[in-house]
Amino acid sequence: NVSVVLFTADLRLHDHPPLRAACEAQAVVPLFVRDEGVTATGFAAPNRLAFLADCLRDLDSGLRERGGRLIVRSGDVVDEVCKVVAETDADEVHMAGDVSAYAHLRERRLRRALEAEGRRLHVHETVTTAVTPGAVTPASSDHFAVFTPYFRQWAQTQLRDTLAAPRTVRVPDGVGSEELPTRSGLSGLSEGLATGGEAEGRRRLAAWLRDGVAAYEDRHDDMAGDATSRLSPHLHFGTLSPVELVNRARKVAGPGAEAFVRQVAWRDFHRQVLAARPAAATADYRTKHDRWRSERTAREDVEAWKEGRTGYPVIDAAMRQLRHEGWMHNRSRLLTASFLCKTLYVDWRVGARYFLELLVDGDIANNQLNWQWMAGTGTDTRPNRVLNPITQAKRYDPDGAYVRRWVPELAGVDGPSVHEPWKLQGLDRAALDGYPDPVVELSEGLARFKRARARD
Ligand code: FAD
Repeated sequence: NVSVVLFTADLRLHDHPPLRAACEAQAVVPLFVRDEGVTATGFAAPNRLAFLADCLRDLDSGLRERGGRLIVRSGDVVDEVCKVVAETDADEVHMAGDVSAYAHLRERRLRRALEAEGRRLHVHETVTTAVTPGAVTPASSDHFAVFTPYFRQWAQTQLRDTLAAPRTVRVPDGVGSEELPTRSGLSGLSEGLATGGEAEGRRRLAAWLRDGVAAYEDRHDDMAGDATSRLSPHLHFGTLSPVELVNRARKVAGPGAEAFVRQVAWRDFHRQVLAARPAAATADYRTKHDRWRSERTAREDVEAWKEGRTGYPVIDAAMRQLRHEGWMHNRSRLLTASFLCKTLYVDWRVGARYFLELLVDGDIANNQLNWQWMAGTGTDTRPNRVLNPITQAKRYDPDGAYVRRWVPELAGVDGPSVHEPWKLQGLDRAALDGYPDPVVELSEGLARFKRARARD
């Protein structure tokens, strides 16, 4: 008998319950469909397509080492799976559960199509999250809307053991596959884009647990120190398993590992919100605000924000890092989101969309719900907090090294005075090399914010 494993956001061989279950059959078809449904949503941005190409090539080589190979098809995911099932006379299809509205629809369609042909679909949980969305709930609701009580229950949930990668994968002869995608031909890639693939993800994880995680609690907000794991794209594409990540971090133990595990739980938290309320990808989750400036009315401010020339050095450094690497430090994401939503009072969806164009870890649950958190429409219990880019910059980039790294016009300004270039005098000011004045006074932004919120 034959089983198909449909890979989606779980591009790995280690700790992969659907693959392990499929390997019980005499032969396995490891399948990835380049789904035109995803392409049509505009979600397939160049940086993520490049990382995906790395992941698929690496998955294929891992399978070849085990005697198999990856089958790649393009088209409608349901049609393609059904074709492969028919060609190989497979009895069942195994795949990971996922949380977006699109993933739910895909699962329903696939189940219906397969059952109509007398085949079975098995959806496995704890593949793309550590704890299954909906497995822990408060007494009065189908999901947690606040992180702290969620985390209390999450932390007490027993995780399953990490699964080894299968030793051999027997793929039936004669199953046709397209060529594996490559990075070449993709334009608009960020220059400093990370490399994808399970081998790279595992190497990074091992190095992180050995050298990085112990200092995480103290250093995670040090913007210049770059002392976070940078595992987010690997979690997004599933080249690393969240269950394995948490199991291994817990073995390291200590305050750094605990703080890190808590951060990984934020990922599960947002996924259980999105699973219960898929509309939160675009609609305000808890509190509706409708006085936002649109991209059109605030066009010049939005352009300055996107291009990293708002005149606030830490904001500009962060936005340039995003463009250069397709990735940003968490503190940078918080500051740039607060600046767009609360200082410029622009609709959070404008910022979320721009992040998704560039982020290599761009993820519907994490991106949209973090944006909502910062916009005060989501799960933040202090929805009116505004992050002051100057105070925050002095706290999290005390020497100004992060700003100097990303804003060359300011590279000659020493120490923390780089955060307030408008205070420089005489020749120092003249040497700024065209760095712009602030697009708005912070006090003016705050006054606009308060007016809008008072009327909402
Ligand atoms: P680490 O600090 O090493 O954390 C480890 C892992 O925990 C991360 O890889 C991530 O999976 C998870 N994590 C950490 N912080 C958060 C958080 N606040 N929410 C949810 N999960 C978290 N993360 C994404 O993966 N994709 C996104 O599209 C995304 N968009 C964001 C947009 C905004 C406006 C904000 C404020 C945050 C966003 N985040 C997003 C969350 C967070 O900024 C990144 O996960 C983190 O910066 C990735 O770097 P790291 O892997 O070094 O994180």
